[in-house]
Amino acid sequence: MNPPRSLSRREFVGHLSLAAAALALPGRLRGAAAPSDRKKLGIALLGLGGYATHQLAPALRETRFCRLAGIVTGTPAKAESWRQRYDLPEHSVYNYDTMDRLADNPDIDIVYVVTPPGTHRDFVVRAAKAGKHVISEKPMATNVADCDAMIAACRAAGKKLSIGYRLHFEPHHIEMERLARDPHFGPFTRLRGGFGFPLRGRQWRIDRKLAGGGPLPDVGIYVIQAARRATGTWPVAVTAREEPKTRPEFFNEVEEAIRFTLEFPGGEMCDGFASYNESADLFHAESAQANWVELAPAYIYGGIAGRTNRGPMNLPNLNQQAAQMDDFARCVQDNRESPVSGEMGRRDIATLEAIYAAAASGKRVEVNL
Ligand code: NAD
Repeated sequence: MNPPRSLSRREFVGHLSLAAAALALPGRLRGAAAPSDRKKLGIALLGLGGYATHQLAPALRETRFCRLAGIVTGTPAKAESWRQRYDLPEHSVYNYDTMDRLADNPDIDIVYVVTPPGTHRDFVVRAAKAGKHVISEKPMATNVADCDAMIAACRAAGKKLSIGYRLHFEPHHIEMERLARDPHFGPFTRLRGGFGFPLRGRQWRIDRKLAGGGPLPDVGIYVIQAARRATGTWPVAVTAREEPKTRPEFFNEVEEAIRFTLEFPGGEMCDGFASYNESADLFHAESAQANWVELAPAYIYGGIAGRTNRGPMNLPNLNQQAAQMDDFARCVQDNRESPVSGEMGRRDIATLEAIYAAAASGKRVEVNL
């Protein structure tokens, strides 16, 4: 058996810096000097729900190139508690009616939209019109037309747009991408992945208008992203089948679980699964030479673990959200496009639309990229 092909530190750092994830590595490995706190780019979180509260705001205490500088919320009680907790100036606290005044606030460079997907379009367009760079949470929107409007608004304003694809800054996923390109290991031809959890409690995730669908756009999108990265290309056609519902009265607007197959241009195939009734957190990719990589758990915030046929990956877990936001701040500072761009988010929404069309028709559907 071959010895494990673990990355040398130089390779690892080189690769991370490509995706700018090196920002989260220990100080001696970091390239760029962090600016003083005052010069860090200011981020305003818009929508102070679970993800903003428990992941993004804490991550902004660890970022080196950006900081929490403001909030936009529809809940007055949250406005006050966040203002106190994060020591935010009164003039940087907005609600959805006043957020257009962000245009007059030089402390805020970036608006991070963290609301249900059906609301992303309007908030992103308004943030861009206020002259701010924008991060939109995933899924980018609930349809391709909204993605187009978001991209157009940011372009018209001369502002950058990025999607909250945190795993692009995660070492195991970055390494999987590298292995795919390594001629001694990849390319990967057979892939499979699933992401699911039992959903409890009524919320926007089962509201078609707000969510755009059920587990497919919420968690299935991670499988699509992993497959896209493991093949280095985009799915061109799909087939899909919705699973029978065990709680039809609860999931009366969206699917409860769905299986789909993605076809890629070189004939690579990925079997995917997304569920709101069972737990799954896996991605597996293998090459024609029987090399394989498996991430399990594959998509969680911390504790991602990976193995290949040559042994464990032995890579660190970083604060993914901090690395993601720092990378976007660097994109703004260096005037380069985000590696997780609006165009990328749009292509994923086009893929989701094809999967739903395939599930409805029972036919193979080409993705309209
Ligand atoms: P949540 O329900 O906990 O919070 C949503 C927030 O949006 C709430 O504060 C709510 O008041 C606000 N909101 C504004 N307009 C609304 C409207 N019209 N209807 C309902 N709520 C409205 O949801 P969440 O889990 O924080 O998810 C928010 C976004 O973040 C979603 O796009 C989700 O997919 C994404 N998300 C991403 C990750 C990730 O790992 N990248 C993880 C969780 C959630």
